[in-house]
Amino acid sequence: MNKRAKGVTVWFTGLSGAGKTTVALEIEKILKEMGYYTQRLDGDIVREKLTKDLGFTKEDRNKNIERNTFVAKILTDNDIITLCSFISPYKSAREYARKEINQVGDFVEVFVDTPLEVCEKRDVKGLYKQARKGEIDNFTGISDPYQEPENPDIILKTAQETIQESAKIVIDYLKKINTIK
Ligand code: ADP
Repeated sequence: MNKRAKGVTVWFTGLSGAGKTTVALEIEKILKEMGYYTQRLDGDIVREKLTKDLGFTKEDRNKNIERNTFVAKILTDNDIITLCSFISPYKSAREYARKEINQVGDFVEVFVDTPLEVCEKRDVKGLYKQARKGEIDNFTGISDPYQEPENPDIILKTAQETIQESAKIVIDYLKKINTIK
């Protein structure tokens, strides 16, 4: 039987290739096995649909976060455990998301703190290579800023932890704040 959680948005922020999607997928798997309703919102996927018209200027990135926050808020209000994976490099945009989501439920900011060198070495999508060659503008960490969270709820160090270890840290936190049992 599916179980209802207390509404929460878990917001993963970090550089491209930091591990936001990978860890969120692992958490989604665990939560589904436990019987909880959960929904992922992933930057790469929503940018193909919901925010297809947007680029990577500060203005467009903020619009991307605003629209996704709107969706996450609806899901959270319906007690779905919402897992958001967006680079979300600007502190103000993450604060906006927290403020909105907090009107209906909990907001857990997860800083996926993976050094640029590690992300660049992973280069999952070959984007760092292209950015270094100057083929991509506004690339976070190379030609665009990333404002590190000053006071995140959780910090994941994916360069040192396994995917399962990172996922467990988040699951344990959700138990601690009574989102899940
Ligand atoms: P992001 O969503 O932050 O852009 P991805 O999840 O797409 O990052 O890519 C992260 C890459 O790093 C994946 O290829 C993943 O397999 C790898 N990786 C290696 N170790 C870890 C770890 N401990 N946690 C998360 N990802 C890891």
